[in-house]
Amino acid sequence: MSAPSALSPLPAKSYEPDLARIRLEFPILGQKIHGKHLVYLDNAASVQKPRDVIKAVSDCYSHYYANIHRGVHLLSERSTTAYENARETVRAFINAASGQEIIFTRGTTESINLVASSFGGSRFQSGDEILITGMEHHSNIVPWQLLCERTGATLKVAPFTDAGELLLDEYERLLDSGRVKLAAFVHISNALGTINPAKTLIELAHARNIPVLVDGAQAVAHLPVDVQALDCDFYAFSSHKIYGPSGVGVLYGKQALLEAMPPYQGGGDMIRLVTFEKTEYADLPNKFEAGTPNIAGVIGLGAALDWLNSVGLETVAAHEHALLNYATAKLAEIPGLNIMGTARDKAALVAFTLRGAHPHDIGTILDREGIAIRAGHHCAQPVMQRYGVPATARASFAAYNSREEVDYLVDALWKVKELFE
Ligand SMILES: *Cc1c(COP(=O)(O)O)cnc(C)c1O
Repeated sequence: MSAPSALSPLPAKSYEPDLARIRLEFPILGQKIHGKHLVYLDNAASVQKPRDVIKAVSDCYSHYYANIHRGVHLLSERSTTAYENARETVRAFINAASGQEIIFTRGTTESINLVASSFGGSRFQSGDEILITGMEHHSNIVPWQLLCERTGATLKVAPFTDAGELLLDEYERLLDSGRVKLAAFVHISNALGTINPAKTLIELAHARNIPVLVDGAQAVAHLPVDVQALDCDFYAFSSHKIYGPSGVGVLYGKQALLEAMPPYQGGGDMIRLVTFEKTEYADLPNKFEAGTPNIAGVIGLGAALDWLNSVGLETVAAHEHALLNYATAKLAEIPGLNIMGTARDKAALVAFTLRGAHPHDIGTILDREGIAIRAGHHCAQPVMQRYGVPATARASFAAYNSREEVDYLVDALWKVKELFE
């Protein structure tokens, strides 16, 4: 028996010439699961990490780890430099105007909670409205519900079509109530794959002086995001969905807004001067980074973005789009398989149900074949309610997935179909 590291990755013929090389950069992909080659298609839940990221985290802990922003010693200086370099990498990646607009958080969830708590806390009152869409992840619903409970504001929900596309007329109508104080929407739906027309939605809101938060958790790894071109007020995403470590996220916010907002949490590193009578807060971005952050994780995120830049986000997006088209066509051939989310502008994930088979059973059977997909409500229960299903199965693609892997998925689903007939 050979050790897992000796296994060759899946063949990658007929694809981008670089795919075999890219796959080799992900140590985890070389293993077998239940005796089968791992086919990892749960990328919308979390993406695997390339060697560069693993090495960056390991190098930090092996060679220069210390707490940041406070030590006078060499290791603290080196950690601080690496941490702040990662901030600059993030800034450039989303084209923010300044590093002061990049706040490191624990993830998309914390980024949205930060805005709901700090931006929301002081500006909302009874009768105000927050507009979201019907296809939000729970993390872009619940923080606003909590804000509504605290302030008496109301949550409004923009509807979408059976294909999974927002109804723009309805969106405008809801914006026109005169009471909307913030609009928040998902850039790419993790449950449907819909790519929302972010620029249009932002323009519609801004035409009415309504600030906008974009949940970019599914978007940043799959399409180029330029926060200045979008003109969004806030943009939130997670490191673990863009090839970086988990436990790290980003909140982009326009400087003037962030400056006007009170701190989200109090503690170390976010202050200039503390006395028992009064505390002066630090400048941006430190004002919003209380306590010791995930130092090595942030550095790993910087390495992840460097890696993605080296492959080229446009190349990855084109590759994933080809996989989506291939998978969609192949899956449509399976009788009783119903794809949920057929928006014209769609990212590389396919959510589906199969007549007679519960999604969890599909997931379990595929796992026996070494294929990892997601089965469940995808933290978007209102989307499931919209279509009247308890759950779906979801295959989602990343830079390293191949056409052969789609074939494995489709073959396995034919077997599932036969089992449940
Ligand atoms: C994953 C995801 C989130 C939450 O991200 P966390 O990393 O769990 O905080 C929010 N929105 C969407 C669309 C997601 O896919």
